[in-house]
Amino acid sequence: MYSTMQKLTPVVQKYGGTSVGSVDRIKHVAKRVASQYRDGWTHMAIVVSAMTGETNRLVALVKEVNPRAPAKAYDMAVASGEQVSVALMAAALAAEGVQAEPFLSHQLGIVTDSFHSKARIRSIDSQKIIDCWDRGVIPVVAGFQGVTESMEITTLGRGGSDTSAVALAIAVGAGFCEINTDVDGVFSCDPRVVPEAQLIEDMDFEVALEMASLGSKVLHPRCVELGAKFQMPIVVRNTFTPDDHRRTRVMNLASLTNLEAPSVSGVTLDRDVAKITLIGLPYDTSIVSGLFSAIAEVGVNVDIIVHNLPEPGGKTMHLGFTTSRGESDQAVKAAKSFWVKSKMQSQLDITVDNSVAKVSVVGVGMRSHAGVAATTFSALQRAGIDIRMISTSEIKISCVVDQGLADAACKALHSAFITG
Ligand code: ADP
Ligand code: ASP
Ligand code: MG
Repeated sequence: MYSTMQKLTPVVQKYGGTSVGSVDRIKHVAKRVASQYRDGWTHMAIVVSAMTGETNRLVALVKEVNPRAPAKAYDMAVASGEQVSVALMAAALAAEGVQAEPFLSHQLGIVTDSFHSKARIRSIDSQKIIDCWDRGVIPVVAGFQGVTESMEITTLGRGGSDTSAVALAIAVGAGFCEINTDVDGVFSCDPRVVPEAQLIEDMDFEVALEMASLGSKVLHPRCVELGAKFQMPIVVRNTFTPDDHRRTRVMNLASLTNLEAPSVSGVTLDRDVAKITLIGLPYDTSIVSGLFSAIAEVGVNVDIIVHNLPEPGGKTMHLGFTTSRGESDQAVKAAKSFWVKSKMQSQLDITVDNSVAKVSVVGVGMRSHAGVAATTFSALQRAGIDIRMISTSEIKISCVVDQGLADAACKALHSAFITG
């Protein structure tokens, strides 16, 4: 990507938790950035995450103090990990003889809505970045955090520094946004789960978005959403390999027709799944609509829904749906209060199962290749894996399976579709 750009083109580079996870790593990144700067790439902005494990530590700390900590306090605590990284990175760059200025979100003006812990960026004031470049200074920006109009600290959701970086790249009109991490790019499956996963060198936004949304952790879904909306190319690369090493470029590949695209580009795994089951509900559509409205009102995202109609002659139905594990309690609470408010005669029979995971196959070629569902189900069946729930779209098939069998499910699907 660098070879095709003018050196004065703005570039945003993001370094994730593992890339800044120790003093040596921070020094390594600073050396890399300083050498690019000396090479003429003077219009660079650096976004950093908290040091690896730090955000988990902060989340655990808040939860220990109060499992239901107020959203403002939660965000203020968990956003602090990035503050340390930004300061250390600016100091490390200074040690390399490059001037750098650290910025927290309120100093730069990264303004978000007020949905704490899943805030969305509304605007970024790029003026201070441009002022830095005019003075020959590299701005170093805290990822993950934002600030509301009334100056409250927000966070963008776990993994959200990728989104900070792409949003900043859009705000400053960068040529591309580089996401530096601990793997060479986006693979056909998480290489920690399927070691023979293959690097996908060129990816369309559509596939990247679906893979990110279905649990492939390497890119935050909203960064791909933004990249697609503003046509900002995203390059995913390994912080610890030379500049000319292989990488993934995520951009608009509309020229690749569905017919030419592989039916399945990747297999994803999402372990953050809770399955909620409601048994013996009266067969009445107003109950389904009332339940899901009550759940939506408390801001819980419902994913797969399975609806079992009554047996012939019966009057009750079963309803199953999934949410993230962190939101399952809220969903249950909302369902119970809907039940009470609706003055239902019977007790609500509701259970939560946290021992499931979701595996998915993704590919735009599915639009034009038949048999993907059949291959998916037979691969899982041959591996002895029961499917608990299924959901499909034009370019994905997702199956909820037992958590303990999730890795085996990924391996089975990867070998059925990718390595053959
Ligand atoms: P960072 O700290 O740099 O933001 P993350 O841990 O958020 O890094 O994301 C990188 C990790 O994502 C990798 O170490 C890998 O285990 C995981 N991952 C999951 N799915 C994929 C995939 N399809 N391709 C590459 N990495 C993946
Ligand atoms: N530090 C935050 C997290 O761990 C954001 C990020 O790493 O992107 O979720
Ligand atoms: Mg990440």
